[in-house]
Amino acid sequence: DDRISRIASTIRVIPDFPKPGVMFQDITTMLLDPKAFKDTIDLFVERYKGKDISVVAGVEARGFIFGPPIALAIGAKFVPMRKPGKLPGEVISEEYSLEYGTDKMEMHVGAVEAGERAIVIDDLIATGGTLCAAIKLLERVGVQVVECACLIELPELKGRERLCDNPLFVLIKSA
Ligand code: IMP
Repeated sequence: DDRISRIASTIRVIPDFPKPGVMFQDITTMLLDPKAFKDTIDLFVERYKGKDISVVAGVEARGFIFGPPIALAIGAKFVPMRKPGKLPGEVISEEYSLEYGTDKMEMHVGAVEAGERAIVIDDLIATGGTLCAAIKLLERVGVQVVECACLIELPELKGRERLCDNPLFVLIKSA
């Protein structure tokens, strides 16, 4: 699909952000290009439309950019998966490990129902810890995670393996 190479060319890499040695993949430059942004959304919509998916769960913060337009286009609800202390209602939470220390992800109780079919969306998978926490939260309440979807995968970090047997769909693999 020649849309994918065009999208890839709009993503900027910033060396040494947020710390030395990291090559940060910056998707904000893709958002400045309306065709690339639309093609990105369309590629996900083409994959998930008509698949009986009722939940698009977006991971804070960049999953909030891509999740809502996909949810609207496929007729699903959008559920934000947030950093701790941000959601005002009753939450369930899942702790996950980072390179240094741990973090937590939260979801509103009652946002989803057992038996629903979900996709989880974020901009990028690195070690897979973030998506793994999102999967666990949804599965704990009986939701079936059909697939995780990201724009970018960093395959060297083997995040895919951390998702156990949950499928992962990515547009771009980056070194
Ligand atoms: P993981 O949990 O190690 O897979 O890290 C993925 C999370 O970190 C996602 O929420 C990403 O948005 C964020 N992240 C890690 N590296 C990058 C990057 O190079 N660009 C943008 N986001 C990143």
